[in-house]
This record gives sequence, C-alpha cells and structure tokens, in this order.
Amino acid sequence: MPDAPKIVVLPGDGIGPEIVAAAREVLDTLGEFAYDERLMGGCSIDANGVALTDEVLDACKAADAVLLGAVGGPKWDTTNPDDPRPEQGLLGLRKGMGLYANLRPVRPSPALMGASPLREDRISGTDLLVVRELTGGIYFGKSGRDGDAAFDTCEYDAAEIDRIARIAFEAARRRAESSGARPKVTSIDKANVMETSRLWREVVTRVAADYDDVALDHLLVDNAAMQLVSRPADFDVIVAENLFGDILSDEAAMLTGSLGMLPSASLGAAGAPGVFEPVHGSAPDIAGQGSANPLATILSAAMMLRHGLNMPDEATRIEAAVDAVLEDGLRTPDLAGGPAAPPPMVDVPPEVEVGTAEMTAAVIEALVRG
Ligand code: NAD
Repeated sequence: MPDAPKIVVLPGDGIGPEIVAAAREVLDTLGEFAYDERLMGGCSIDANGVALTDEVLDACKAADAVLLGAVGGPKWDTTNPDDPRPEQGLLGLRKGMGLYANLRPVRPSPALMGASPLREDRISGTDLLVVRELTGGIYFGKSGRDGDAAFDTCEYDAAEIDRIARIAFEAARRRAESSGARPKVTSIDKANVMETSRLWREVVTRVAADYDDVALDHLLVDNAAMQLVSRPADFDVIVAENLFGDILSDEAAMLTGSLGMLPSASLGAAGAPGVFEPVHGSAPDIAGQGSANPLATILSAAMMLRHGLNMPDEATRIEAAVDAVLEDGLRTPDLAGGPAAPPPMVDVPPEVEVGTAEMTAAVIEALVRG
C-alpha cells in the first residue's frame, strides 16, 4: 500500500485552527493522510520570535502539500518596521517554496446565486479558474521616483511565461477529466500596446502546441474585464500575468459574492508541494465563537486533492458535498440573511443558521451519503 500523503498543516491564527480542523475532519472521511501540524504566523512569533522558522519551511518543502488556515490579528499589529509580522510567514513561504502560480477557482454554488451581485441568468453555469503569475512582472521590476516623476517596469522572460502557461494547460486538462467538457485556456494580455504582452502571447501560443487537446484563445485585458461580467460561464481557465491576474482574480471572485466560500492554491515547480488556503483572513472578530464558515478551507482541501495530490475524484466529491449542504439550506452566519430572494418556483428548504461544527458534520454526512 502506498504511504499516506504527507501534509504539513499550518492552522495559523484567529479562526485558522477552527477551520483547518474542519477541513481535516472532511479529509479523514476520504482516506488516510499523515499530518504534521506546525506553527506559522502570529502563533509562531509568540513561540519563536519569527513568523516562519527555517525548520517549518524545510518541513513544508519536504511535504506532499501544505494546508494553511490564515494568519494575523490585532495582537501582532505594529507600525514598527523592526517588529516581526505574521504576513512575513506567508511571504517567506511563497518565496522559500518558489510558488509562482496562484490558482483561484470561481464556481458559484447554485444555492448561493442570490448572493452574487450579478443576475442569476448571467452567472448560472459559471465554473472558471484564474491562474495568476505570482513572482514576475511589474510587481518585481525596477521602480523608482525622481521628484515629480516615477516609474515601474514590467519585465518577463520566456521561461517565466512558459512555466505559468503549462500550469494553466495542465489545470485545464485536469478539470476536463471530471467535467468531460473540452478544456479551454483563455490567455490575457495587452499585446496591442505592451512588448511583454507580445512575448506573453508568443510563448503561450508555443506552449499550446504541446496541448493540442486544449483550445486556446487570447483576450486583451480590457475586453476580458468586460467579458468576465457579461458572459462568465463561457470561461474555463484564464491565465494572466501578475498585475492583470491580480485585478481579474478579484473581479472574478466577486461573482460568488461571498468571502467565506473562496479557496485558493499556490503552486511551484512540477512535483514540488503547493500551498492550499482560503482567500479570507483570520477573522479575529469571530475567532473562538464556533461560527466561522469552514467551506473555503474545505474547498481548499479539495484543491489540494486535485492539484497537489492527484486525487481529482475525491476533490469533486467534496465540492458536490458542499453544494449539497447549501442546497439543504444550511448557512453559517456570514451566508445567512442575504437579500430577499424571489419566491421559489419549486420547494426549497428554508435556510437554517448553523455553526462551524454543524456545517462540517453536514458536509461529512453528504460525503458519506454520496
Ligand atoms: P478577514 O478576511 O479576516 O475578515 C473580513 C470579514 O470577513 C470579517 O468580518 C470576518 O469576520 C469575515 N470572515 C472572513 N472569513 C470568514 C469565515 N471563514 N467565516 C465567516 N466570516 C468570515 O480580513 P481582515 O479583517 O481584513 O483581516 C483580519 C486579519 O487577517 C488581519 O490580521 C489580516 O492581516 C489577516 N489576513 C490574513 C490573510 C491570510 O492569512 N492569507 C489574508 C487576509 C487577511
């Protein structure tokens, strides 16, 4: 029997430990995993004086995957630049593990359509993934200021574009394995204006030749921003450089209308472990109350299974179980009491407000039920 996958677990601060424990319970329903729980963030500052120790970073690099809660809180807020800060743990992890790709799926749950700022007929059927380049482009180029003038430089080389394009094509293939649809990658650039974008388009087109089962199209970023709200259901995988990806992934995230539902993955070189975490923060205002929404972390665990541990079927099962509990009307307080919905055409169960533990138990029950 193969060894159980090794997962370093970094619960972090605030609601982190509560939501990560929930995700572990769900994972344990599906199989055996060897967890190694470590300190990172504010809790590590308290114990070790730094947000991320070399020992924890080494453990993460040696794992099959890393599952992260969230870090930070008022206890560690400081304006002194010499004081350690919880976020240094996140940045240290991204840099130390070479995580150059950020993946954010946007798949509004049918039961939560009313929470989206868009009309249901626009958003219905949306199931897309934004793949954002994370370590290049204008955020890392030369920048400076000279009196009243300032500049930021956008630089990319072909190798950086090649590797992020491959992540996107591979992700499109994996998604198609469970959906059965023809995989498609939409590459975003500003090739009518920017030289880095022309290189981007050239390299992505070249990489596409290795994936002839995946359709490729190119969109200018301004057009993409428009299409994302006018016909979101037509997208499959979107790949973009750092700045365009930052903006489009936030725009796409709002399609779901709910922070407590959004998972993410950060990936590095092929075969290297990725980091899987909810998009939201440590929510110190509700920590310890048992009311945190665990679904973004449970869906991050699903991403870990799909993108980090090659267990796509199990990932799909978790996503279906999350949909099922929402269809059954279960809502943590952050999801409850949305705008009044139009009268339902069919019998819909009334919404029931539940805490972290009940929501988690319901997901597990839905998983077991199948
Ligand atoms: P936040 O995401 O923690 O919270 C924003 C609001 O959303 C709060 O009202 C919170 O209660 C609510 N919320 C967030 N997640 C929720 C969940 N799972 N269930 C129910 N409600 C939820 O953002 P913030 O308040 O700006 O930041 C709080 C701390 O988190 C700060 O220290 C910040 O630096 C840190 N932070 C960490 C990460 C990370 O670890 N990746 C990301 C963002 C913010």
